[in-house]
Amino acid sequence: LQERTNQAQRMESLGRLAGGVAHDFNNILAIITNYTEFAIEQTADRPAAHDDLVQVRAAAGRATALTRQLLTFTRGDTVQPRDVDLNDAIEEVRAMLDRTIGEDITLLAVPAEQPPIVHLDPGQLHQVLLNLAINARDAMPGGGTLVLEAGLVTLDGDEFDMQPPLPAGTYARLLVSDTGEGMPPHVAEHIFEPFFTTKQRGKGTGLGLATVYGIVTEAGGSLNVYTEPGIGTTFRIYLPTVTAPTVHDPAREAAPPRGAG
Ligand code: ADP
Repeated sequence: LQERTNQAQRMESLGRLAGGVAHDFNNILAIITNYTEFAIEQTADRPAAHDDLVQVRAAAGRATALTRQLLTFTRGDTVQPRDVDLNDAIEEVRAMLDRTIGEDITLLAVPAEQPPIVHLDPGQLHQVLLNLAINARDAMPGGGTLVLEAGLVTLDGDEFDMQPPLPAGTYARLLVSDTGEGMPPHVAEHIFEPFFTTKQRGKGTGLGLATVYGIVTEAGGSLNVYTEPGIGTTFRIYLPTVTAPTVHDPAREAAPPRGAG
């Protein structure tokens, strides 16, 4: 437990450091971008210099995208939690991914019988699901199956390798599972650390899972990962549930209750 606490503290201070650097860097990049833009206009009649400057602008653009990602990783001020239904969230993310994911990947969204309602910023919830789904896609270059599943589960306080441990009770659960490459233990051990990546330069920032970890634990939840090389990986996310607000949806009220009969 002490080791886990140390890790959480290390991640927090690393995150804060990264945020500070990203902020200053972003301002410098804005100056570089502005002057480059200006120089590009002035070199319209000198193709060689013009092309070089276009390269500079493109590189500055990539750096800006990276610092922006670092800033969203560390920023907490724009977060607006509200009651959201995980069944809706997995369906929205499935629809979003449907258009971008390769044809050789089967994408499934499996809703819970009873809507699992959590209190979370909807943008953050999407970010959690997208980060996990994109990793799953990257782990299946030869195709496979990606499952997004929502559920309501009762924990008895003795769950497999939960980070951090949760008291017994009923939780909303998100499961993101792939039939991809999986991870050896020496990789799995580090995946929640900021900047840890096994992806090629420019492909991964190593911030995806650190962000997931931050969002989930901030919301009072927890997560674990089960992975096996050559078989695949399953992430499970547990979040505190809220009692569903009474919604007057005539379509739903007219329909017979699910599971009746
Ligand atoms: P990034 O995706 O930028 O590398 P992440 O923090 O999202 O950063 O992931 C860190 C590392 O964890 C990845 O580089 C990869 O090695 C490993 N990883 C994450 N998800 C999976 C997965 N579903 N299957 C296999 N490896 C994974």
